[in-house]
Amino acid sequence: MSTNFKELGLIEPILLALFEEGYTTPTPIQAQSIPIILEGKDLLGCAQTGTGKTAAFTLPIIQLLLQHKPVERRKKIRTLIVTPTRELAIQIAENFEAYGRHTPLNCTVIFGGVGQGPQVTALRNGVDVVIATPGRLLDLMNQGHLSLRDVEYFVLDEADRMLDMGFYGDIMKIIQFIPNKPQIILFSATMPPKIRTLAEKILIDPVQVNIDLAKPKENINQQAYMVYDSQKNALLIDILKDYKDETVII
Ligand code: AMP
Repeated sequence: MSTNFKELGLIEPILLALFEEGYTTPTPIQAQSIPIILEGKDLLGCAQTGTGKTAAFTLPIIQLLLQHKPVERRKKIRTLIVTPTRELAIQIAENFEAYGRHTPLNCTVIFGGVGQGPQVTALRNGVDVVIATPGRLLDLMNQGHLSLRDVEYFVLDEADRMLDMGFYGDIMKIIQFIPNKPQIILFSATMPPKIRTLAEKILIDPVQVNIDLAKPKENINQQAYMVYDSQKNALLIDILKDYKDETVII
């Protein structure tokens, strides 16, 4: 599929930012996801880091925020993006700021492990988009520093990692604080049964997008071994014995 960002329905201020970023062609996950999100549908996306998944949800959300309602001077939190780690939250915020630089939208990050003062000040000044890790988000909500009553777009990024980190309960709590069903976008690198169960609980009629795993180059021989985690190291050592005099990347 060869298409460009304009054909996906994106508007001028976003196209200009993409041009400035040097992006010419949407990645497969972007080509699939952007039109679906612009249509207002819930989306269940299976994509790893490095596929361009951040822009796949950030770009259409910027557009929906601009088109759905006028951006008010007194800002309300209209988009909530929840991620497992502060590093990912910061990365998403950097993307958001780059792609939204020709719009009046703003965002802030919220994560634990640092003082809450600057985060509370940023919230008090008003933001359109909050990018947060679950624990500190709930903490600030419980203290009355932010409300999710105006959230229209809700993203769960790296959902499988969040469940692995034990955030299931926090995620369900956060959703209960959003009074009107938001448009929900759930991205996960893997689709184990617990992600499907979560998706069934919170998404309404979602469209599912997967990117085809890259086909190996013809001269590369791939093998897969089904083993338990506890067996991985021993298996790896055993396999490496066959490559003793060669260079190996793990
Ligand atoms: P992500 O998978 O969202 O972590 O993105 C991986 C990297 O690809 C990031 O550094 C993005 O800035 C970059 N990127 C995302 N979409 C595109 C695109 N369409 N063209 C070129 N680079 C991109």
